[in-house]
Amino acid sequence: MPDFARCGMSMRTPAGSVDLVPLFRRLEGDRSAVVHRSEKEAAVLALAHLGVDTYRIGTAANVNHTEVLAILRARGVAVQPGTNAPAIGERSMRRQKRRSQRNLIDGRLVHPDAPHGTDTGYIDYGCQCVPCSAAHAAALERHRKARAS
Ligand SMILES: [Zn+2]
Repeated sequence: MPDFARCGMSMRTPAGSVDLVPLFRRLEGDRSAVVHRSEKEAAVLALAHLGVDTYRIGTAANVNHTEVLAILRARGVAVQPGTNAPAIGERSMRRQKRRSQRNLIDGRLVHPDAPHGTDTGYIDYGCQCVPCSAAHAAALERHRKARAS
């Protein structure tokens, strides 16, 4: 795409130039970085050009996901279907909520509703009871062996 040119921390796009600094700061979780409305479309195009997925583009450019897709389609940018980004976002939110529901029992954080004795109990519920910890250690060991072979 000859319409894109990066110069230091700004990028020229078919929708104008955009300062990449606030976009990168927002990608790193700093929601206080301001993206000017006039640069919104250029921001979406620049991030897509850099290979950022559409959900993270929305976060970085402060644009809702529907609008991200609309901007990209209007500019003829191919949008990758079937990304699992929202599933990951929901999963991590669920995990955070579950982590707050754990109880400290005998020095271990234990989740009351976890499927105990499974890696899921450890990963998704953050349950550190003896059976969940053992299942997680076994899973790590399996991964390690699978990688080694
Ligand atoms: Zn457990």
